[in-house]
Amino acid sequence: MSRLLDVENLRVIFHTYRGTIKALNGIRLWLNEEERLGIVGETGCGKSVSALSVMRLIEAPGEIIDGQILFEGNDILKLSEEEMDRHIRGKRMSMIFQEPISALNPVFKIGFQIAEAIAHRKDISIGDAYKLVPESLEMVGLDWKRSIDLYPHELSGGMAQRAMIAMALAIKPKLLIADEPTSALDVTIQAQILQLLDELVKIGKNAVILITHDLGVASEFCDRITVMYAGNVIEISNSEEIFDEPLHPYTKGLISSIPIIGASRELTGIPGSVPDLVSPPSGCRFHPRCDFCFDRCRMEPPALSEILPGHFVACHLYSDGVKEG
Ligand code: SF4
Repeated sequence: MSRLLDVENLRVIFHTYRGTIKALNGIRLWLNEEERLGIVGETGCGKSVSALSVMRLIEAPGEIIDGQILFEGNDILKLSEEEMDRHIRGKRMSMIFQEPISALNPVFKIGFQIAEAIAHRKDISIGDAYKLVPESLEMVGLDWKRSIDLYPHELSGGMAQRAMIAMALAIKPKLLIADEPTSALDVTIQAQILQLLDELVKIGKNAVILITHDLGVASEFCDRITVMYAGNVIEISNSEEIFDEPLHPYTKGLISSIPIIGASRELTGIPGSVPDLVSPPSGCRFHPRCDFCFDRCRMEPPALSEILPGHFVACHLYSDGVKEG
């Protein structure tokens, strides 16, 4: 399958009154057509900043200062804002946000907002686009006659997220970015929304980046997982392998903090908290929280290396490969 997205050495900073936040520290991501990539990590690790960078939605005081984002072979960092709007954003890629009610425009009815998205993709009049709205609403399980004339504030959280999905998929994007699409919803609705997304992206053959703090959700939904910590990518592997045989101490900590029904093991979690990215720790940014830290870790940032086929890790423990046992 051919490569859809290739992100190399992406660096993003935010200028604040406290100093410069080094939000993305030269990250690497890639995604093939129709592939699903999960980006996982604690709040503040850079997941959402990565997604916003791919959409070119980083605004002041944020700034992309280095790197390359190849989308369908073109470096979108070199495109003008007008080119992004005309050819990429809302055409070839779209995004579902965490808080659907706040992401929808409060002063327009749902039907109109979906029609606008369709009109933008197809370059047709809003009137013609409006005729396609019932099909879009039914596709996401909403009764179109009841929902087409509702305003966002009249929708439940689950209905609003369904409407957002309808808008995002109405443009038939090559790439759909879903930023914590279920974290504002209750548990039963979360499962329904993920199942709906799963069915729709299979039909639409969309590639997906799913941003989540929940490694369990990511491993069920995605083909491959990228784990981030403090602005760095620290592990990449296919979903099964990362769950069954995690290598990085941080990934192991994330997994040991997930409750598994029927398993009688102690939940341990990860001690400490994410560092302040104005002055991140030297060397490996995880070293103050790592049980395996040694001298080199405090001085030298570990590089991301492929140490098993398709399994990449950034940790000095694996400088000589993976040891048995
Ligand atoms: Fe721990 Fe060192 Fe590996 Fe960082 S490089 S995760 S501190 S062992």
